Amino acid sequence: MKKRKLIYVSVLSIFFILSFYIIRNHIEKKRDYTFQFPCGVAPNLLNDIRLDSLGVELVFDAPYKWNKETLRVFFVDIKDENLKEKTLKIANKWSRYSNIKFELSKSIFRSEIRVSFYAKNGYSSAVGNQAKDKSYLRKPTLSLQNLQKQSDAEFKRVVLHEFGHAIGLQHELQSPASTIDWDSIKVYDYYLKVYKWDKAMVNHNILTKINTEDYTDFDSKSIMIYAIPDSLTKNHTAIPWPSDLSNTDKKTIGKFYPTK
Ligand SMILES: [Zn+2]
Repeated sequence: MKKRKLIYVSVLSIFFILSFYIIRNHIEKKRDYTFQFPCGVAPNLLNDIRLDSLGVELVFDAPYKWNKETLRVFFVDIKDENLKEKTLKIANKWSRYSNIKFELSKSIFRSEIRVSFYAKNGYSSAVGNQAKDKSYLRKPTLSLQNLQKQSDAEFKRVVLHEFGHAIGLQHELQSPASTIDWDSIKVYDYYLKVYKWDKAMVNHNILTKINTEDYTDFDSKSIMIYAIPDSLTKNHTAIPWPSDLSNTDKKTIGKFYPTK
C-alpha cells in the first residue's frame, strides 16, 4: 500500500514539475520580442506576417513611387494625439529632402498610409504605392507593433525606416551595389538559430540582391540597413544600427521626389 502511495505521489510530482516548465516556457516565448530583423519583426511572428523586404532602399523601385506629394496617414488603433504627432514629426524628416509630406488624416477612407501600433505584424510596411493594393483596403499598411514602449532612439530609427519603405525604399543590404561579402554558411546558421528562418527565407531576405536599376553606391549608414555582425561576413565587415537619415538617404529621396 505504501509503495503504491509512493508511486502515486511521484507521478503527481513529475506531472506538476513538467506542467510548471511547459507553462513557464510558454510565457517566456510570449515575451520573446527581440525587435531587430527584418524591420524588427519578432521571431515568433515570422510565420504570420508579410515581410516588408518584398517591397526596395537606396534601392528604390520606380514602380512603387507615389504620384502625389501629400500622403495622408491614419492611425488605426491609437487615440494618443501626442504619439501621432511624435510619429509624424519624425516621418516628416523625409519631407525636408523631398516633396513628400505626411499629413494626419482623421478618416480611414481618406488615407494612403494606415499605421497600427497593435497589429501583430512587428515593424513592417507596404512598399510605396503597394499600399493601394486591394489586399490593404481599410487595413493597416504600416505596422509599429508596441514601438511606443521602446526608447526614443529606437522609436526614431524604426519610424524613419518604415516610412522609408512607405515611400518606396527597400533594404540597402540587398542592394545590387552591396559590398557585403557574406559567409553564407554562417548566415544560414545564424538566422536559423536566432530567427528560425530556413534557407529560402534567408535567401529571400538577406542574400538575394534586389533586381532593380535604381540604386546608389552601397550606403552602410543608410536608415534602410540592418545591423550585421562581423562574424557573418568573410571580410569581417560589421555594420552597426543606423540612427538617422544618411547623406545618401537625403540625396536619394530628393532625386525620386524632387522639390521644385
Ligand atoms: Zn525594412
